[in-house]
Amino acid sequence: MSHANRAILFDLDDTLFDHHRAMSAAIGAIHAAHGEGLPFEPFSLLHAELLEQIHLDTLAGRLSLEAARVERFRRLFAHFARPLGDSAAAEMGADYRRHLQANRYPIDGAAELLQALRAAGVAVAVVSNNLEQEQRDKLAHLGLDRLIDLLVTSERVGCAKPAPAIFQTALRELDVPAQAAVMVGDNWQADVAGAVTCGLKAAWLNRFGRRCPEPTLAYLPLDSLTPTDRLARRLISHGCANQLC
Ligand SMILES: [Mg+2]
Repeated sequence: MSHANRAILFDLDDTLFDHHRAMSAAIGAIHAAHGEGLPFEPFSLLHAELLEQIHLDTLAGRLSLEAARVERFRRLFAHFARPLGDSAAAEMGADYRRHLQANRYPIDGAAELLQALRAAGVAVAVVSNNLEQEQRDKLAHLGLDRLIDLLVTSERVGCAKPAPAIFQTALRELDVPAQAAVMVGDNWQADVAGAVTCGLKAAWLNRFGRRCPEPTLAYLPLDSLTPTDRLARRLISHGCANQLC
């Protein structure tokens, strides 16, 4: 019987915060307003791809969030042979942002899960590849800010998951050793592989039924954050890889 875990680390975007839902609503609104005649599926897929790509420039400090949005819409519409002027791209970026902000919801069970973990005496941290202020605002809007002990962003640490330094910063600030901590996240490479490399245990939140890229890696598979009490117990006792895979 292994010792219980003392800290649970969570990714934020698409782990506690339903970014997929907000993004779908926002890109749907942009398509309805400006995408007449453009097929929605490829439009929306390319947008999601560009978001991932250009977000790396934001993480590296090369683009502000606003400039990243403008660049994304410029490339998206250029792909469909509808080049945007500067002001049109800026307006679209602002429009997208408005819809995104109006559609910010937690993943089902997120608040209850954090509450259950803290009630059990476990430390809770959010470890996120994003900007500090953006994530602070998001956590406050979702009402999750009071339910966490620590926020660690890639902006503050100066490197992004899966780099070990970001996990190590969280562990150091929580004063918990890697082997007594679990990282929960939706991104295989950044969250699961990154955490395991660092000596933490990991849980993969796979809401969309993706195939596991490395089935030999020990991890706790999750398809949702509910039922929360049971999941809290599983995360606290998660330790024996053999019983999980
Ligand atoms: Mg994520």
